[in-house]
Amino acid sequence: MRRVGVLGATGSIGGSTLDVIARHPGRFQATVLVAHRQVDALVALCARHRPELAIIADPTLEEALARGLAASGVRCEVASGEAAVAAAAAGPLCDTVVAAIVGAAGLDSTLAAARAGKRLLLANKESIVMAGPLLLAALREGGGELIPVDSEHNAIFQCLPGGRPDLAGSGVRRLILTASGGPFRGRKRAQLAAITPDQACAHPNWVMGRKISVDSATLMNKGLEVIEAHHLFGAPADAIEVLVHPQSLVHSMVDYVDGSVLAQLGNPDMRTAIGHALAWPDRVDTAVPPLDLAGLAPLQFEPPDLDTFRCLALAFQALRAGGDAPAILNAANEVAVDAFLAGSLPFLGIAELVESVLTELPAQPVVDIRTLVARDLAARTAARRILRNAC
Ligand code: NDP
Repeated sequence: MRRVGVLGATGSIGGSTLDVIARHPGRFQATVLVAHRQVDALVALCARHRPELAIIADPTLEEALARGLAASGVRCEVASGEAAVAAAAAGPLCDTVVAAIVGAAGLDSTLAAARAGKRLLLANKESIVMAGPLLLAALREGGGELIPVDSEHNAIFQCLPGGRPDLAGSGVRRLILTASGGPFRGRKRAQLAAITPDQACAHPNWVMGRKISVDSATLMNKGLEVIEAHHLFGAPADAIEVLVHPQSLVHSMVDYVDGSVLAQLGNPDMRTAIGHALAWPDRVDTAVPPLDLAGLAPLQFEPPDLDTFRCLALAFQALRAGGDAPAILNAANEVAVDAFLAGSLPFLGIAELVESVLTELPAQPVVDIRTLVARDLAARTAARRILRNAC
């Protein structure tokens, strides 16, 4: 029985994870559920999945959570605060941790799970973008395993021999990350000036949280994934290619030196990657419908438009700059996306703000988590100042 901690249980990945878990009660059990502020949604999930521990990250809501659980007849431990989330990720109630908190807020718990030697199902790409070398060191220290949940990296994991996480000596020439192109594929800059948050969040193929939906619309999501692939698979920037594939059926590919290209295909439903990562090396039914290959529209592939979607170019630039540049990029992007969703920054302003912060804070080596968090904060402060001055 795999005992699973679901961090970000009330989110899109959390919901898909709990759906897969509930289909296999003899195999998986959700023992820890974590949310940020959505108390009622967390109580409802606890009533359905009966965890041993429920955590609300916002400490002011612990009482409300305890009351809600009592009113629903759910008996489980209750905790609150960021430290409780990290302690649970490392603690004895789970052997598997689904890191599905959105943004840098997921870093501490992801690192804690890695250090404690858990099976880490990584959805929270921001944590590996921010702290790739530190997360890899924590994994080595803990002796656990990381199985990527991001569909592209899960696809690459499946296309590598034995899921080999490191490319050295494996005959791999290139990793090819596919991108849907988001809702604005084919548009030019001038057509993106007046985009609203709801338009940006209306993804053509995937249903996701709002932050990653905006990242998909700017192609920053693909940029974060390029950096994630670099760390997960030890691939240099020049060996990572992005191809726009609007149907989102080929989730990514591995190009080998003998001319073979291996691809993983499937309907765009995160339960495939989550089920794979939970059960690996076995396979379990996830209720994702089989791919109707004969009925598919032709599959298209095209290069990304880096002039219009500057965020992808900026992510490659940050990866090549090395050190903490990806952390600076990620922090500036989180501030920019928040401002865009709040209506105080235009869509095209996201890339402009990220570029300004990268210019203001040139890369420094990643030393330890304390300095990294300080640099993350410096980037957020710079981004907010630039935003204020622009108003
Ligand atoms: P959602 O916005 O749908 O959910 C975010 C979850 O994180 C919620 O449960 C939220 O709780 C919780 N959360 C937010 N802030 C905190 C905090 N400070 N402490 C504890 N919990 C917190 O996001 P997604 O599920 O879409 O994405 C989650 C992560 O997975 C992101 O990093 C994303 O990039 C990645 N990912 C998502 C994919 C997708 O298809 N959705 C695909 C691949 C990767 P509450 O509800 O209480 O606010």
